[in-house]
Amino acid sequence: MSEESSAVFRAGLAQLGLSQQHEEAFLLYRRELLDWNTRFNLTAIKEPEEVLLKHFLDSLTLLQAYDKQKDIRLLDIGTGPGFPGLPLKIARPDWKVTLIEATGKKTIFLQHIVDLLQLKNVEIIHGRAEDIAHKRNYRGTFDLVTARAVSALAALLECSAPFCRIGGSIILPKKGEMGEEFLQGKRAASLLGTRLKADLPVTLVGLDDGRRLLHWEQYKACPHSIPAPGPY
Ligand code: SAM
Repeated sequence: MSEESSAVFRAGLAQLGLSQQHEEAFLLYRRELLDWNTRFNLTAIKEPEEVLLKHFLDSLTLLQAYDKQKDIRLLDIGTGPGFPGLPLKIARPDWKVTLIEATGKKTIFLQHIVDLLQLKNVEIIHGRAEDIAHKRNYRGTFDLVTARAVSALAALLECSAPFCRIGGSIILPKKGEMGEEFLQGKRAASLLGTRLKADLPVTLVGLDDGRRLLHWEQYKACPHSIPAPGPY
């Protein structure tokens, strides 16, 4: 890796209190991601340095908004090759992590990483969030729900809120000015039992370029009719 990105990545890990052991896990994950990507088209980000910052560190920014509880249940919707769910699991091994992904080949890669890094308490679900959200053992059960780069804010909230327990959090990373998308998201939230708790700028070294974390609170149960059948 280039000296500069390596240093920025390390500085970011240090800012989050993560160690060399974490860094080693991330380097293994990157090696497999780039190798599998030549056959399975898992990510558009192909530069090794960019994987460190735009996938791993960007996923970890969520810890700036939420980082207290042990043993929490985290759900990552549309995780693709694991972002942000798997970097968060590497950083917080006590968390119970569920990953939902609609594309089968990506779930095979996810299982490979979980096995390689010997991660415990990770559940990988191959399916669509709008279907799984109606299953009783998933509905209203997660402490923290996240999704990165899956759809526009209103649709993301509609997919996320049904999974979140009352009093739980939904944290959605976004970038830059969102204009109408933000207003539509807030309107959708009011129908979902969700309200905006905080809009936090990301302040990690190397990622202070307008990234933000929209932190929503599930203050009452989401109506049963939601989500409507997809696709989202
Ligand atoms: N979250 C990852 C990231 O930030 O790199 C992947 C983003 S990728 C652009 C969007 C992913 O969401 C794809 O892998 C797609 O298969 C998945 N996806 C889209 N809609 C979904 C749905 N309704 N349920 C589950 N997965 C979905």
